[in-house]
Amino acid sequence: MKFQDSRRDFLAAGLTLPAAALATHQAPAAPAAAQPASGARTFRTLGKTGLKVTSVGFGCMVTSDESVVAKAVDLGITYFDTARVYSRGNNERMVGSALKGRREKVVLSSKSTARTAAEAKAHLDTSLKELGTDYLDIWYMHFRDDPAAISDELIPVWEEAKKQGKIRHIGVSTHNPNAIADRVLQVGKIEVVLSTYNFAIGAANDSAFERFDQAGIGLVAMKVMAPASRAFGFKSSGEHAKRPGGPLAALKWVLRNKRFATTVPSMTDNEQLEENLRAMSEPFVAQDEKLLAGINESVRPLYCRMCYRCTGQCPKGAAIPDTIRFLSYADFYGQFALGREHFAELPEQARSIRCGECETCSVVCPNGVNVPRRMMRAQELFA
Ligand code: SF4
Ligand code: SF4
Repeated sequence: MKFQDSRRDFLAAGLTLPAAALATHQAPAAPAAAQPASGARTFRTLGKTGLKVTSVGFGCMVTSDESVVAKAVDLGITYFDTARVYSRGNNERMVGSALKGRREKVVLSSKSTARTAAEAKAHLDTSLKELGTDYLDIWYMHFRDDPAAISDELIPVWEEAKKQGKIRHIGVSTHNPNAIADRVLQVGKIEVVLSTYNFAIGAANDSAFERFDQAGIGLVAMKVMAPASRAFGFKSSGEHAKRPGGPLAALKWVLRNKRFATTVPSMTDNEQLEENLRAMSEPFVAQDEKLLAGINESVRPLYCRMCYRCTGQCPKGAAIPDTIRFLSYADFYGQFALGREHFAELPEQARSIRCGECETCSVVCPNGVNVPRRMMRAQELFA
Protein backbone atom coordinates (compact mmCIF):
# COMPACT_ATOMS: atom_id res chain seq x y z
CA MET A 1 0.00 0.00 0.00
CA LYS A 2 1.21 3.47 -0.85
CA PHE A 3 0.30 5.70 2.06
CA GLN A 4 2.82 6.18 4.85
CA ASP A 5 2.69 8.18 8.07
CA SER A 6 6.09 8.20 9.70
CA ARG A 7 7.02 8.60 13.35
CA ARG A 8 9.04 11.62 12.28
CA ASP A 9 5.95 13.15 10.64
CA PHE A 10 3.98 12.72 13.85
CA LEU A 11 6.64 14.09 16.12
CA ALA A 12 7.80 16.94 13.95
CA ALA A 13 4.72 18.09 12.13
CA GLY A 14 1.73 16.74 13.98
CA LEU A 15 -1.19 14.93 12.44
CA THR A 16 -2.24 16.18 9.05
CA LEU A 17 -5.88 16.13 8.11
CA PRO A 18 -7.00 15.49 4.55
CA ALA A 19 -7.44 18.86 2.85
CA ALA A 20 -11.15 18.38 2.21
CA ALA A 21 -11.75 17.30 5.77
CA LEU A 22 -9.74 20.22 7.10
CA ALA A 23 -11.86 22.61 5.11
CA THR A 24 -14.99 21.04 6.57
CA HIS A 25 -13.54 21.14 10.06
CA GLN A 26 -12.58 24.80 9.93
CA ALA A 27 -15.78 26.06 8.41
CA PRO A 28 -18.01 26.61 11.48
CA ALA A 29 -17.32 29.63 13.63
CA ALA A 30 -16.25 29.10 17.24
CA PRO A 31 -18.75 29.66 20.06
CA ALA A 32 -18.58 32.69 22.30
CA ALA A 33 -15.34 33.87 23.90
CA ALA A 34 -14.04 32.36 27.14
CA GLN A 35 -15.53 33.39 30.46
CA PRO A 36 -14.02 33.09 33.91
CA ALA A 37 -14.40 29.81 35.80
CA SER A 38 -17.41 30.80 37.80
CA GLY A 39 -20.98 29.75 37.45
CA ALA A 40 -23.03 26.93 38.79
CA ARG A 41 -21.80 23.48 39.61
CA THR A 42 -24.49 20.99 38.71
CA PHE A 43 -24.89 17.80 40.73
CA ARG A 44 -26.43 14.49 39.79
CA THR A 45 -26.96 11.21 41.63
CA LEU A 46 -24.97 8.17 40.56
CA GLY A 47 -27.70 5.54 40.32
CA LYS A 48 -28.47 3.49 43.39
CA THR A 49 -25.12 4.31 44.94
CA GLY A 50 -26.74 7.56 46.06
CA LEU A 51 -23.43 9.36 45.55
CA LYS A 52 -23.91 13.01 44.58
CA VAL A 53 -21.34 14.10 42.02
CA THR A 54 -20.71 17.14 39.86
CA SER A 55 -21.79 16.47 36.27
CA VAL A 56 -18.26 17.38 35.21
CA GLY A 57 -15.72 15.18 36.92
CA PHE A 58 -12.00 14.81 36.37
CA GLY A 59 -10.31 12.04 34.40
CA CYS A 60 -6.75 11.97 35.72
CA MET A 61 -5.21 9.60 33.15
CA VAL A 62 -3.03 12.13 31.34
CA THR A 63 -2.57 14.64 34.18
CA SER A 64 0.93 14.99 35.57
CA ASP A 65 0.57 18.31 37.42
CA GLU A 66 -0.99 17.60 40.80
CA SER A 67 -1.78 21.28 41.36
CA VAL A 68 -4.45 21.02 38.63
CA VAL A 69 -6.16 18.17 40.50
CA ALA A 70 -5.96 20.07 43.79
CA LYS A 71 -7.35 23.21 42.18
CA ALA A 72 -10.23 21.24 40.68
CA VAL A 73 -11.24 20.08 44.16
CA ASP A 74 -10.98 23.62 45.47
CA LEU A 75 -13.17 24.85 42.57
CA GLY A 76 -15.86 22.34 43.43
CA ILE A 77 -15.38 19.28 41.20
CA THR A 78 -16.28 16.23 43.26
CA TYR A 79 -15.54 13.15 41.14
CA PHE A 80 -12.00 11.97 40.31
CA ASP A 81 -11.02 8.90 38.35
CA THR A 82 -7.68 7.16 37.99
CA ALA A 83 -6.45 3.58 37.42
CA ARG A 84 -3.71 1.27 38.63
CA VAL A 85 -2.13 1.13 35.19
CA TYR A 86 -2.06 4.83 34.35
CA SER A 87 1.49 6.14 34.00
CA ARG A 88 2.75 2.74 35.17
CA GLY A 89 1.31 3.37 38.63
CA ASN A 90 2.56 6.93 38.98
CA ASN A 91 -0.82 8.47 38.25
CA GLU A 92 -2.38 7.09 41.44
CA ARG A 93 0.59 8.43 43.43
CA MET A 94 0.13 11.88 41.89
CA VAL A 95 -3.62 11.87 42.59
CA GLY A 96 -3.00 10.72 46.17
CA SER A 97 -0.59 13.56 46.72
CA ALA A 98 -3.02 16.11 45.24
CA LEU A 99 -5.87 14.87 47.46
CA LYS A 100 -3.94 15.10 50.73
CA GLY A 101 -6.27 16.95 53.10
CA ARG A 102 -9.02 16.88 50.45
CA ARG A 103 -9.93 13.19 50.30
CA GLU A 104 -13.24 13.50 52.15
CA LYS A 105 -14.46 16.18 49.75
CA VAL A 106 -14.44 13.90 46.73
CA VAL A 107 -15.74 10.68 45.24
CA LEU A 108 -12.64 8.75 44.18
CA SER A 109 -12.47 5.82 41.80
CA SER A 110 -9.70 3.60 40.52
CA LYS A 111 -9.56 0.51 38.33
CA SER A 112 -7.81 -2.80 38.01
CA THR A 113 -7.03 -4.65 34.80
CA ALA A 114 -6.51 -7.85 36.81
CA ARG A 115 -7.81 -11.07 35.32
CA THR A 116 -7.14 -13.26 38.38
CA ALA A 117 -8.32 -12.95 41.99
CA ALA A 118 -4.79 -12.82 43.40
CA GLU A 119 -3.73 -10.07 41.01
CA ALA A 120 -6.88 -8.05 41.74
CA LYS A 121 -6.35 -8.19 45.52
CA ALA A 122 -2.76 -7.06 45.10
CA HIS A 123 -3.85 -4.25 42.79
CA LEU A 124 -6.40 -2.94 45.30
CA ASP A 125 -3.95 -2.88 48.18
CA THR A 126 -1.43 -1.05 46.01
CA SER A 127 -4.04 1.43 44.79
CA LEU A 128 -5.08 2.28 48.36
CA LYS A 129 -1.47 2.72 49.42
CA GLU A 130 -0.55 4.91 46.45
CA LEU A 131 -3.69 7.01 46.76
CA GLY A 132 -3.13 7.43 50.50
CA THR A 133 -6.66 6.40 51.40
CA ASP A 134 -8.43 3.64 53.31
CA TYR A 135 -11.16 3.18 50.73
CA LEU A 136 -12.19 3.76 47.13
CA ASP A 137 -15.70 5.02 46.50
CA ILE A 138 -15.80 2.99 43.29
CA TRP A 139 -13.42 0.25 42.19
CA TYR A 140 -13.81 -0.68 38.53
CA MET A 141 -12.91 -3.85 36.69
CA HIS A 142 -10.91 -2.04 34.05
CA PHE A 143 -11.37 -2.48 30.29
CA ARG A 144 -14.13 -5.10 30.16
CA ASP A 145 -15.21 -5.10 26.51
CA ASP A 146 -15.86 -8.84 26.56
CA PRO A 147 -18.48 -10.33 28.93
CA ALA A 148 -16.11 -13.20 29.76
CA ALA A 149 -13.73 -10.65 31.35
CA ILE A 150 -16.31 -10.06 34.11
CA SER A 151 -15.49 -13.50 35.40
CA ASP A 152 -16.93 -15.58 38.23
CA GLU A 153 -13.44 -15.60 39.75
CA LEU A 154 -13.36 -11.81 40.08
CA ILE A 155 -16.86 -10.96 41.33
CA PRO A 156 -16.19 -12.39 44.86
CA VAL A 157 -13.00 -10.31 45.12
CA TRP A 158 -14.95 -7.10 44.55
CA GLU A 159 -17.70 -8.24 46.97
CA GLU A 160 -15.16 -9.12 49.64
CA ALA A 161 -13.43 -5.75 49.24
CA LYS A 162 -16.79 -4.07 49.76
CA LYS A 163 -17.49 -6.10 52.91
CA GLN A 164 -14.04 -5.16 54.24
CA GLY A 165 -14.77 -1.48 53.65
CA LYS A 166 -11.91 -1.14 51.15
CA ILE A 167 -14.37 -0.09 48.46
CA ARG A 168 -17.87 1.34 48.62
CA HIS A 169 -19.20 0.39 45.22
CA ILE A 170 -18.47 -2.10 42.45
CA GLY A 171 -17.93 -0.85 38.90
CA VAL A 172 -16.98 -1.94 35.42
CA SER A 173 -15.34 0.18 32.70
CA THR A 174 -15.93 -0.57 29.03
CA HIS A 175 -15.69 0.67 25.47
CA ASN A 176 -18.36 -1.76 24.40
CA PRO A 177 -21.43 -1.46 26.66
CA ASN A 178 -23.70 -3.31 24.24
CA ALA A 179 -21.49 -6.40 24.43
CA ILE A 180 -21.38 -6.58 28.23
CA ALA A 181 -24.91 -5.40 29.10
CA ASP A 182 -26.39 -8.89 29.53
CA ARG A 183 -23.49 -10.01 31.71
CA VAL A 184 -23.57 -6.87 33.89
CA LEU A 185 -27.30 -7.26 34.51
CA GLN A 186 -26.97 -11.00 35.10
CA VAL A 187 -24.22 -10.53 37.72
CA GLY A 188 -26.51 -8.10 39.54
CA LYS A 189 -23.76 -6.73 41.82
CA ILE A 190 -22.37 -4.05 39.54
CA GLU A 191 -23.41 -0.58 40.65
CA VAL A 192 -21.59 1.71 38.23
CA VAL A 193 -20.64 1.45 34.54
CA LEU A 194 -17.94 3.77 33.17
CA SER A 195 -18.36 3.86 29.40
CA THR A 196 -17.04 5.57 26.31
CA TYR A 197 -19.59 8.13 25.15
CA ASN A 198 -19.19 11.12 22.85
CA PHE A 199 -20.75 12.96 19.92
CA ALA A 200 -18.93 10.85 17.33
CA ILE A 201 -20.34 7.63 18.78
CA GLY A 202 -23.76 9.19 19.15
CA ALA A 203 -26.69 6.94 20.03
CA ALA A 204 -25.00 3.63 19.09
CA ASN A 205 -24.95 2.37 22.69
CA ASP A 206 -28.13 4.02 23.96
CA SER A 207 -30.06 0.77 24.38
CA ALA A 208 -27.41 -0.54 26.79
CA PHE A 209 -27.38 2.75 28.69
CA GLU A 210 -31.16 2.62 29.02
CA ARG A 211 -31.01 -0.91 30.44
CA PHE A 212 -28.32 0.08 32.96
CA ASP A 213 -30.28 3.16 33.96
CA GLN A 214 -33.50 1.18 34.47
CA ALA A 215 -31.59 -1.25 36.70
CA GLY A 216 -30.36 1.64 38.85
CA ILE A 217 -26.77 1.29 37.68
CA GLY A 218 -24.97 4.63 37.77
CA LEU A 219 -23.40 5.81 34.52
CA VAL A 220 -20.14 7.71 34.08
CA ALA A 221 -18.99 8.91 30.64
CA MET A 222 -15.37 8.72 29.51
CA LYS A 223 -13.56 9.74 26.30
CA VAL A 224 -16.17 12.47 26.15
CA MET A 225 -14.22 14.79 23.90
CA ALA A 226 -11.61 12.49 22.31
CA PRO A 227 -12.49 13.28 18.68
CA ALA A 228 -12.58 16.99 19.49
CA SER A 229 -9.60 16.86 21.81
CA ARG A 230 -7.51 19.96 22.18
CA ALA A 231 -4.39 17.86 21.55
CA PHE A 232 -5.52 16.64 18.13
CA GLY A 233 -2.68 17.55 15.80
CA PHE A 234 -0.30 17.77 18.75
CA LYS A 235 3.15 19.03 17.82
CA SER A 236 6.53 18.22 19.30
CA SER A 237 6.94 21.89 20.20
CA GLY A 238 4.13 21.41 22.73
CA GLU A 239 1.86 23.69 20.75
CA HIS A 240 -1.71 22.51 20.46
CA ALA A 241 -3.60 22.56 17.20
CA LYS A 242 -6.39 25.11 17.47
CA ARG A 243 -9.83 23.63 17.72
CA PRO A 244 -11.57 26.60 19.33
CA GLY A 245 -14.76 25.61 21.08
CA GLY A 246 -14.52 21.94 20.12
CA PRO A 247 -13.71 20.36 23.50
CA LEU A 248 -16.25 22.52 25.35
CA ALA A 249 -18.97 21.78 22.80
CA ALA A 250 -18.17 18.06 23.02
CA LEU A 251 -18.48 18.09 26.81
CA LYS A 252 -21.74 20.03 26.69
CA TRP A 253 -23.07 17.49 24.15
CA VAL A 254 -22.50 14.68 26.67
CA LEU A 255 -24.00 16.65 29.57
CA ARG A 256 -27.31 16.79 27.73
CA ASN A 257 -27.77 13.08 28.42
CA LYS A 258 -29.08 13.03 31.98
CA ARG A 259 -28.64 9.26 32.22
CA PHE A 260 -24.97 10.00 32.85
CA ALA A 261 -24.40 11.27 36.36
CA THR A 262 -20.91 12.52 35.61
CA THR A 263 -18.12 12.67 33.06
CA VAL A 264 -14.35 12.27 33.27
CA PRO A 265 -12.77 14.60 30.74
CA SER A 266 -8.98 14.62 30.75
CA MET A 267 -7.32 17.79 32.03
CA THR A 268 -3.67 18.69 32.02
CA ASP A 269 -3.68 22.37 32.94
CA ASN A 270 -5.75 25.12 34.52
CA GLU A 271 -6.93 26.51 31.20
CA GLN A 272 -8.56 23.19 30.41
CA LEU A 273 -9.99 22.94 33.92
CA GLU A 274 -11.61 26.34 33.66
CA GLU A 275 -13.05 25.58 30.24
CA ASN A 276 -14.53 22.30 31.44
CA LEU A 277 -16.11 23.99 34.45
CA ARG A 278 -17.99 26.28 32.08
CA ALA A 279 -19.78 23.27 30.60
CA MET A 280 -21.89 23.03 33.75
CA SER A 281 -23.36 26.49 33.34
CA GLU A 282 -23.50 27.05 29.58
CA PRO A 283 -26.18 25.62 27.30
CA PHE A 284 -25.50 23.48 24.25
CA VAL A 285 -26.50 25.71 21.34
CA ALA A 286 -26.93 25.40 17.57
CA GLN A 287 -23.44 26.76 17.03
CA ASP A 288 -22.02 23.88 19.11
CA GLU A 289 -24.00 21.40 17.05
CA LYS A 290 -22.60 22.85 13.84
CA LEU A 291 -19.07 22.86 15.17
CA LEU A 292 -19.27 19.21 16.25
CA ALA A 293 -20.80 18.18 12.91
CA GLY A 294 -17.77 19.64 11.15
CA ILE A 295 -15.31 17.94 13.50
CA ASN A 296 -17.18 14.66 13.18
CA GLU A 297 -16.86 14.78 9.42
CA SER A 298 -13.17 15.64 9.60
CA VAL A 299 -12.30 12.73 11.91
CA ARG A 300 -14.54 10.16 10.20
CA PRO A 301 -11.62 8.26 8.55
CA LEU A 302 -9.46 8.59 11.66
CA TYR A 303 -11.52 8.03 14.81
CA CYS A 304 -12.57 4.51 15.78
CA ARG A 305 -16.05 4.46 17.39
CA MET A 306 -15.20 1.13 19.03
CA CYS A 307 -18.25 -0.63 17.67
CA TYR A 308 -16.20 -3.83 17.23
CA ARG A 309 -17.99 -4.66 13.98
CA CYS A 310 -14.64 -5.22 12.24
CA THR A 311 -13.74 -8.00 14.69
CA GLY A 312 -12.74 -11.16 12.83
CA GLN A 313 -12.67 -9.47 9.41
CA CYS A 314 -8.87 -9.39 9.06
CA PRO A 315 -7.56 -12.74 7.79
CA LYS A 316 -4.24 -12.12 9.59
CA GLY A 317 -5.97 -11.51 12.91
CA ALA A 318 -5.03 -7.85 13.36
CA ALA A 319 -6.25 -6.35 16.65
CA ILE A 320 -8.00 -3.51 14.86
CA PRO A 321 -10.11 -1.66 17.46
CA ASP A 322 -7.42 -1.89 20.15
CA THR A 323 -4.61 -0.80 17.83
CA ILE A 324 -6.55 2.17 16.48
CA ARG A 325 -7.58 3.13 20.01
CA PHE A 326 -3.94 3.17 21.10
CA LEU A 327 -3.15 5.32 18.09
CA SER A 328 -5.88 7.70 19.26
CA TYR A 329 -3.95 8.22 22.51
CA ALA A 330 -1.14 9.62 20.36
CA ASP A 331 -3.20 11.46 17.76
CA PHE A 332 -6.07 12.78 19.87
CA TYR A 333 -4.48 13.21 23.31
CA GLY A 334 -0.89 13.89 22.23
CA GLN A 335 0.13 10.90 24.41
CA PHE A 336 2.56 9.08 22.15
CA ALA A 337 4.24 7.17 25.02
CA LEU A 338 0.90 5.99 26.38
CA GLY A 339 -0.13 4.68 22.97
CA ARG A 340 3.18 2.88 22.48
CA GLU A 341 3.01 1.43 25.99
CA HIS A 342 -0.41 -0.11 25.31
CA PHE A 343 0.62 -1.30 21.84
CA ALA A 344 3.58 -3.12 23.42
CA GLU A 345 1.13 -5.12 25.55
CA LEU A 346 -0.63 -6.60 22.50
CA PRO A 347 0.23 -10.23 21.70
CA GLU A 348 3.39 -10.59 19.60
CA GLN A 349 1.34 -11.95 16.69
CA ALA A 350 -0.79 -8.78 16.58
CA ARG A 351 2.24 -6.51 16.87
CA SER A 352 4.11 -8.23 14.06
CA ILE A 353 1.42 -7.70 11.39
CA ARG A 354 2.32 -5.19 8.67
CA CYS A 355 -0.72 -3.93 6.80
CA GLY A 356 1.53 -2.52 4.08
CA GLU A 357 2.21 -6.08 2.94
CA CYS A 358 -1.44 -6.59 1.93
CA GLU A 359 -2.37 -5.84 -1.68
CA THR A 360 -5.82 -4.76 -0.52
CA CYS A 361 -7.57 -4.66 2.83
CA SER A 362 -10.63 -6.88 3.28
CA VAL A 363 -11.84 -4.99 6.36
CA VAL A 364 -14.84 -2.73 5.91
CA CYS A 365 -15.63 -0.22 8.64
CA PRO A 366 -19.31 0.85 8.63
CA ASN A 367 -18.27 4.10 10.32
CA GLY A 368 -15.91 5.16 7.56
CA VAL A 369 -12.59 4.58 9.34
CA ASN A 370 -9.74 4.04 6.88
CA VAL A 371 -8.63 0.88 8.66
CA PRO A 372 -5.46 -0.01 6.70
CA ARG A 373 -4.20 3.56 6.85
CA ARG A 374 -4.75 3.84 10.60
CA MET A 375 -3.23 0.42 11.20
CA MET A 376 -0.16 1.27 9.12
CA ARG A 377 0.28 4.52 11.00
CA ALA A 378 0.09 2.69 14.35
CA GLN A 379 2.60 0.08 13.17
CA GLU A 380 4.93 2.80 11.92
CA LEU A 381 4.71 4.79 15.16
CA PHE A 382 4.71 2.05 17.78
CA ALA A 383 6.25 -1.17 16.42
S1 SF4 B 1 -12.54 0.39 12.98
FE1 SF4 B 1 -14.68 0.79 12.42
S2 SF4 B 1 -15.70 -1.20 12.57
FE2 SF4 B 1 -13.77 -1.38 13.67
S3 SF4 B 1 -14.30 -0.92 15.81
FE3 SF4 B 1 -13.59 0.98 14.85
S4 SF4 B 1 -15.46 2.02 14.16
FE4 SF4 B 1 -16.00 -0.14 14.53
S1 SF4 C 1 -4.42 -4.35 5.57
FE1 SF4 C 1 -6.41 -5.06 6.33
S2 SF4 C 1 -6.46 -7.25 5.85
FE2 SF4 C 1 -4.31 -6.61 5.71
S3 SF4 C 1 -3.45 -7.03 7.77
FE3 SF4 C 1 -4.17 -4.90 7.75
S4 SF4 C 1 -6.24 -4.96 8.57
FE4 SF4 C 1 -5.71 -7.05 7.96
